[in-house]
Amino acid sequence: QSDCIQTDALVIGAGPTGLFAAFQLGLQEIKTHIVDSLHYAGGQCIELYPDKPIYDIPGTPRCTGRELTENLLKQLKPFDPQFHLGQEISSLEKQADGRFLAQTTAGQSFLTKTIFIAAGVGAFQARQIKLDGLERFNGSQIFYRSDANTVFANKHLLVVGGDTAAIQSALNFATDSTQKAASVTLLHRRDVLQAEPELLQQFQAACEAGKIRFMVGQVTAYSEVQGCMTAAHITDVDGQTAPLALDVMLVLLGLSPKLGPLASWGLAMSRKQVEVDTEKFSTSEPGIFAIGDINSYPGKKKLILSGFHEATLAVFGAAEIIFPEKKIMLQYTTTSPRLHALLGA
Ligand code: FAD
Repeated sequence: QSDCIQTDALVIGAGPTGLFAAFQLGLQEIKTHIVDSLHYAGGQCIELYPDKPIYDIPGTPRCTGRELTENLLKQLKPFDPQFHLGQEISSLEKQADGRFLAQTTAGQSFLTKTIFIAAGVGAFQARQIKLDGLERFNGSQIFYRSDANTVFANKHLLVVGGDTAAIQSALNFATDSTQKAASVTLLHRRDVLQAEPELLQQFQAACEAGKIRFMVGQVTAYSEVQGCMTAAHITDVDGQTAPLALDVMLVLLGLSPKLGPLASWGLAMSRKQVEVDTEKFSTSEPGIFAIGDINSYPGKKKLILSGFHEATLAVFGAAEIIFPEKKIMLQYTTTSPRLHALLGA
């Protein structure tokens, strides 16, 4: 395969554990690729509590989830691992030569000597509206994030959701002259929206000015004409259903973690966790390590510092596989000229 990336190490998950594993891999001079289903690094820290303070990172009395992520990214910068974001590892197979073939939902494949599963509580995925066949419109008429690639100009847009992201998107597409939609409706299942008072005031003003229509209810069906979704059927709190004509739908119902395909990779698991030893945090498949929240062993505690320790020992285990001829020595970052050179210190 021409576009298959050959590497020594593949890290699945760019949460704090995966990021620190990439740093440790750098110290061992191992080339690393990191994949995450999110479009940014940081895992739970960035997705679930970016602005909340953490008090139990050793040597760091207090930092937010975002600050920890930024510091981990800064720390691994000298090694410049390659990130592949917004895609999920969907399959993993052992090859005849002992390497592993991993494939992502974006069609990228990797042939790698070692794998670090740092998948936490699972791959974060956008919550979808569950209606038979609706997923056929994903990417053409239904979108789960608004970015530079989502073009809603002059389209009749339905935004589904009730938090800051949904309200901000509705406002952007209703008022921004460069990407103004033909009409914008915001649909939320309750009449209470979750956002800062200032944003809510702007939203209220846009509704009063007729720029946005706010509806309370849920999408319970849809109409389709010649392979195109033409309307969403919205059921209100009184159980009344009516169609709303539309061109595009932006569904912003938040993200939820899904263990997904990992469960079918043939690794020994217990209660949705990957079983590992505590010497190298190796799984039942030599060459595949599981670190951080995803693993299970006697005494396991789902803490960030546990993931850091596990990542370090797993990388020492992987170095023995990648460099079988080399004796892997423990070196201090304080005193090792070799590590200083690698770190650019
Ligand atoms: P995660 O942070 O879950 O990251 C895993 C990443 O892997 C995710 O980004 C996910 O999208 C990705 N992924 C999964 N599967 C795939 C796949 N197949 N393909 C591609 N990507 C995939 N811990 C502390 O030590 N101190 C605290 O104070 C603390 N406070 C917390 C507060 C809250 C509200 C929560 C929810 C947790 C808290 N934790 C705390 C726990 C801590 O966040 C976790 O222990 C830590 O995030 C685990 O890191 P991880 O890298 O193993 O997994």
